Amino acid sequence: MEEIPVKVAVRVRPLLSKEILHNQQVCVRLVQNANQVIIGKDHVFTFDFVFGENSTQEEVYAVCIKPLLVSLTEGYNALVFAYGQTGSGKTYTIGGEDSASVAADERGIIPRAIQELFHHISEHRNINFHVKVSYIEIYKEELRDLLDLETSMKDLHIREDEKGNTVIVGSKEFQVECADEVISLLESGNAARHTGTTQMNEHSSRSHAIFTISIHQKQSAEYQNAAQDSISSKFHFVDLAGSERLAKTGNTGERFKESVKINSGLFALGNVISALGDPKRKSAHIPYRDAKITRILKDSLGRNAKIVMITCISPSSLDFDESLNSLKYANRAKNIRNKPVVNYNPEKDRIDEMEPEIRLLQEALQSQQVSNQHLHDLNEEKGRVSSLEEKLTRLQVQYFSYRNCVDEALLLLVDLNDDVSLRRSQRDRLQSWISMVQKVRKEALTVQETDTGTETSPVPHHITVLQQKRDLEKCQVLAMNEELFSQKNHEVQILQNQTKALLQEKKEQQEFLKEAQETQRLQGYTSPPVLFLAQMTEFHIRRQIILSKLEDQDKVLHCHLPDQSDEEEDNTRCEEKTSYKCSINQTWTQNHASLCFLPDVSDMKHQVDKSGLSNKSALQTDTNTGEESDSLQNSHVINMQKLTNSELRLAKTEQKIRKLALNMKRKEELIKDLVRTGKDALSVSWQCSLKISQLEQEIEQAKTQLSETQKQLQEPDSKELRDIPEKVMLQKECQKKTEAAKLKVQKREARELAQKVAQLKHQLSQIEERLCEESEKKK
Ligand code: ADP
Ligand code: MG
Repeated sequence: MEEIPVKVAVRVRPLLSKEILHNQQVCVRLVQNANQVIIGKDHVFTFDFVFGENSTQEEVYAVCIKPLLVSLTEGYNALVFAYGQTGSGKTYTIGGEDSASVAADERGIIPRAIQELFHHISEHRNINFHVKVSYIEIYKEELRDLLDLETSMKDLHIREDEKGNTVIVGSKEFQVECADEVISLLESGNAARHTGTTQMNEHSSRSHAIFTISIHQKQSAEYQNAAQDSISSKFHFVDLAGSERLAKTGNTGERFKESVKINSGLFALGNVISALGDPKRKSAHIPYRDAKITRILKDSLGRNAKIVMITCISPSSLDFDESLNSLKYANRAKNIRNKPVVNYNPEKDRIDEMEPEIRLLQEALQSQQVSNQHLHDLNEEKGRVSSLEEKLTRLQVQYFSYRNCVDEALLLLVDLNDDVSLRRSQRDRLQSWISMVQKVRKEALTVQETDTGTETSPVPHHITVLQQKRDLEKCQVLAMNEELFSQKNHEVQILQNQTKALLQEKKEQQEFLKEAQETQRLQGYTSPPVLFLAQMTEFHIRRQIILSKLEDQDKVLHCHLPDQSDEEEDNTRCEEKTSYKCSINQTWTQNHASLCFLPDVSDMKHQVDKSGLSNKSALQTDTNTGEESDSLQNSHVINMQKLTNSELRLAKTEQKIRKLALNMKRKEELIKDLVRTGKDALSVSWQCSLKISQLEQEIEQAKTQLSETQKQLQEPDSKELRDIPEKVMLQKECQKKTEAAKLKVQKREARELAQKVAQLKHQLSQIEERLCEESEKKK
C-alpha cells in the first residue's frame, strides 16, 4: 500500500481595497519555481503548491482539487481543508460564499468539484452513481445541520461504524441527482451560516463548516464485473474557523470562553496533525477525541484519504504574526503520510463477512425446526397415549361392570339350575351357558395372572400404571421434602449449636458475676475494722456462753461448800466441777495474756475436758481437806476478780475498736470527698487563673489608658496653655472618664464575684447531693 503525504498549499490573497486604502504594506513574497513562501525578511517555507495574489480559483482547483476528485471517483476518500486567520480567503477559496454575489470564474472549490463530478457521472453511463450531500457546522463544539436547521444539536452524534468510518448520526443526507441540486443545497447551507453571522457576531468566521459529498458507484447490470461490484467514497470540504489568536480579538469574559472553545478545535487539529506528522506516530496516541472536528475527520486524516491543506494568508504586514503562525501550522501538516485505499462496496464485504454467519444461522434454524418437529411429534404421541389410556380406563370400567353383571347372572342361573324345574333343552342350554361363562372367567383369570406375574391382582394394568405414576410423583415430592428436611435439620443443628454456645457463655457470665459478687462481698468483709468487729462479736458470744457456764458452776460450788459431808457421789461431782472451773480459770488466764488470739469453742471445750479429767484423777487420789477448799476459794475469788477486770478491759477495747472502725469509715468517706472537691477546686482554680490572667490583661490595658490620659493631661501643662479654664475643663473631663472607668471595673468585679459565689453555691449543692446519694447508697 502506497504512502501518500498530505499535500499542503499556500494561497496568498491580494491586498483588499480597504487595506490598500490604509496603505498597508505587503510582507509576503513567493518563489513560484521553488514553491516557496518568504514572509518578512528571512522566514522561508516550502510547500507542495503556492498561489500568489494573481492566482485564479480555476488554477487552485485544477492544481489542488482536481486530482482529489479523480481519486474520489476511483473510490478513494478525499479531504480538503482551508486554514488561516479570519479574512485570509478560506471561504472564498473553498467556495462557501453566496454564489449569487460571485461571478462564474470566481466560484470556489466546492461548486467546481460538484460540476466536475456530475460531468464525470454523465460521462460514465455504464456506472450507477448515487450521490449524497450533507453540510455540518461546528460552532462552540456543538454540531449544527446546515441543511436542516430544525434538527436539534442534541440529535446529532458522531459515531464510528464497524469499518472505522466516521458517521454523523442524525444529520440530513440529501440524495442528489444533478449539480444544480447540490449547488442549491450548498447555497442554502451557506445562507444558514450567513444568517448566523447576522445573529451572532462573526459567527461564520468562528465556526468550522464541513460540506461532504458521498458517492456510491456500481457498474450497470450489462457491464457488471464480478471482481469489482461497487465502490463508496466521500469528499470532505472543510472551511475552518479563523485561526487568529485570542489576544488579537480582545475578547474577555464569556466571549473569551467562547473563543477558547472555538480555538480548541483548531488546537486539537494542530495536535492531531503534529501526532500524525511524527515519524514515531505508530506508537503514539493520536488525540482525535479532543474535539468534534478531529473526531469527524478522523477516518480521513489518519487513515484512508487523499488530503490537501490550503493555508490562506493575508499579505498585509499588519497580519504578519498570524500569517507566520499559519505557515508554521501548515509546515507541520507536510509530514503527515496517509495510505489511501479504494473503498470497495462495504455492503458486499459485509455480506461476504456475514455469509458464514448466515449459513450457521440457517443450520441452527433447520435443527431448531427439526427439534420442533420432534417435539411436536412427541406431544402428539403423548396425546394419543393419554387418549388411549382414557379409553382403556373406560373399557376397564365397562368390563368390570359387565363382569359383575355376569357374576350375578351366573349365581342366579346356577340357583335356577338347581331349584326350578326346567325343560331338558332349557336346562342343557343353561348348563352350556354356565360352563361357557366359567370357561371365560377362567381364561380371564389366567390372562390376569400372566399380566401381573405369579400374583393374581384384581387391579387392572393401566390402573396400576397410573397408581405407580402417582406413587412416583409422590416419591419425587417426598424426595424433595426429604432434601428440604435435611437442609432444615442442618439449619436446626447449627441453631442448636449456637444456642448451646450462647447458654455456655451465659453460664460463664453468671459464674463470673457470682465470683465478682463474692469478691465484692469479701472485699466488704475484709475491711479490717469490719472483720475485726465480726470476730469480736463471735468471741463475745463464746465468752458469754463460757461465763454463763462458769456462773452455773459457781452457784453449785457455793451451795455445796458449807456441807462437805454430802454424799460421795455429789461431792465427787462438785469437786469435779470445781476442778473444772479452776482449770478453766487457769486456761483462760493463760490465754488472757494474748487476748487477740481467739480460741475456738471446740478447742476450749477440749481443753476444759482435758483439765477436768486430770483434776478428776487427782481428786480421786487426794483427800478432801479444808485447806485445799480455802485455797480453792481464794484462787476462785482472785480469778473472778481477774475475770471481771479483763471483762471490763475487753468491753473497753471493743468500744474503742468500734469507734476506730467508725472513724476509719468516716475518714475514708472524707478522703473520697476531699479527692472530689480537690478535683473541683483544681478546675475552679484553673478557671480563676484564667480569669486572673484576663483581669491582669485588662489592668494592663487600663494602665496604658491611664498613662495616656495622664500624658494628655500633662500635654497642656507642657504647652503652657494660657487658657486655664480650658485646662480645668480638660482635667475635669479626664477625671470623669477615670471615675467612669473605675465604676465600670467595680461593676465588672462585683458581677464576677456574684458569678463566683453562684458557682461555689452550685458546687456546694452538687457536693451535698453527692453526699446524700452516697449516704443513701451506704444505707
Ligand atoms: P475568511 O473566510 O478566511 O474569513 P473570506 O474568504 O471571507 O475570508 O475573505 C475575506 C475577503 O477577501 C472577501 O471579501 C473575499 O472576497 C476576499 N478574498 C479572499 N481571497 C481572495 C482572493 N484570492 N482574491 C480576491 N479576493 C479575495
Ligand atoms: Mg470564512
